[in-house]
Amino acid sequence: MSAENRAVLDGAVQRLQRIAEIADVDDEVRNRLLRADRLHTVALRVRRDDGSEISVLGYRCQYDTTLGPAKGGIRFHPDVNAYEVQALALWMTIKCAVIGLPYGGGKGGVAVDVKDLSRLELERVSRAYIRGFADVIGPDRDIPAPDVYTDARVMGWMVSEYGYITRRHDRAVITGKPVILGGIEGRTEATGRGAAICLRELAKRVGLTPEETTVAVQGYGNAGYYFASIIAEMGYRVVAVSDSQGGIHNPDGLDVEAVREAKLEHGSVVDYSGEAESISNDDLLRLDVDVLAPAALGGVITADIVDELSCDYLIELANGATDEDADELLLERDIVAIPDVLANAGGVTVSFFEWVQNREGLPWSEEDVAEELDVRMSEAFDRVWETYEEIDHDLRTAAYVVAMERIEEAVEAKGTRDWFNAR
Ligand code: NAD
Repeated sequence: MSAENRAVLDGAVQRLQRIAEIADVDDEVRNRLLRADRLHTVALRVRRDDGSEISVLGYRCQYDTTLGPAKGGIRFHPDVNAYEVQALALWMTIKCAVIGLPYGGGKGGVAVDVKDLSRLELERVSRAYIRGFADVIGPDRDIPAPDVYTDARVMGWMVSEYGYITRRHDRAVITGKPVILGGIEGRTEATGRGAAICLRELAKRVGLTPEETTVAVQGYGNAGYYFASIIAEMGYRVVAVSDSQGGIHNPDGLDVEAVREAKLEHGSVVDYSGEAESISNDDLLRLDVDVLAPAALGGVITADIVDELSCDYLIELANGATDEDADELLLERDIVAIPDVLANAGGVTVSFFEWVQNREGLPWSEEDVAEELDVRMSEAFDRVWETYEEIDHDLRTAAYVVAMERIEEAVEAKGTRDWFNAR
């Protein structure tokens, strides 16, 4: 494993340690979160369409299950590795705890390039993943979901394979499924909607008015597009968006739906034919806007770039959008960042509703989902903001404190050193 791979996990753990010190978190809780409970690795052997066999590495990490079964997506990407999976599972642990979901944190992945697979090969890899990990997942143990380069269709194959193995219709084992297989309405836009709720709550507290607030969004996939679409409806001016091929900018505001159409039809936002000038992804990050929303890759807000940012607020839809060593620099520059563990938690929150729906056996309507998501996200934002004002540091620290307090409460309820020493 390269040093670069290790750096993501090291950064995630260092951040946790630094925050635990600032916030005076109990040692038992901090120590528990410094390493993953379990990391499973399986070589997945899959037949290609030409009959040859390939072997790809699959991972599943159950980072911490103090608050409940592990919860986290499965990523298919050539860069997936044991360190990244653990870092993502640590962030899931914090995220689920911030929102107050009855889950611990998990994550999975396969080191594979989906662009190199036929449709049937992709299905075989998806089913092989479940055969590899069927013994360690389950509705009360560890509940996977989609992540980068996996979607509802992949989850459909996976829940079907789990059914073959267990001979049961345990739909609550996986979330983000197609609706016909027990998926929930409103899951697709949930991450963008959750981030839009965060922006609305932030705006109330800092006095932003939608019409006078400009927003740039990096990444126009699931998270970025729905975020842009929902905030545009709320009246915000989305002035720049980008994808892997580049970006577009119009200070008067873009027609976000027409940009989406152009991307769907031609492959990229740069194919938008409305009024806009081309910009690079790097330029987009440096634009003079009120709100910058990284919604593509991790590690884009680095210590090197903080000085060049011209935004006042960051909304981190991408997991790990900000490097650990940029945190304090953002604080010094008075740039307020709504951290990934809160800003993109709408997805896992609606996944929780799906899990509840599967266990109840009663479908939720799209309105039920949107309403309940609003309640959960607003409450979480409130609690993080109150903590932020108390600790007088940044919102990320406040979110981690909220999460660690919940984990601490559960640790205490299960019996701690103090309890045993008192016997
Ligand atoms: P996606 O694959 O749907 O979209 C990713 C977008 O980023 C695409 O538009 C792609 O072209 C663009 N992109 C890729 N490389 C880029 C680059 N170098 N510069 C600019 N844009 C680039 O993925 P998604 O589901 O929207 O996820 C995006 C981020 O949000 C990831 O970090 C993911 O972990 C995080 N996230 C997503 C969800 C969810 O429910 N979708 C939930 C939580 C977190």
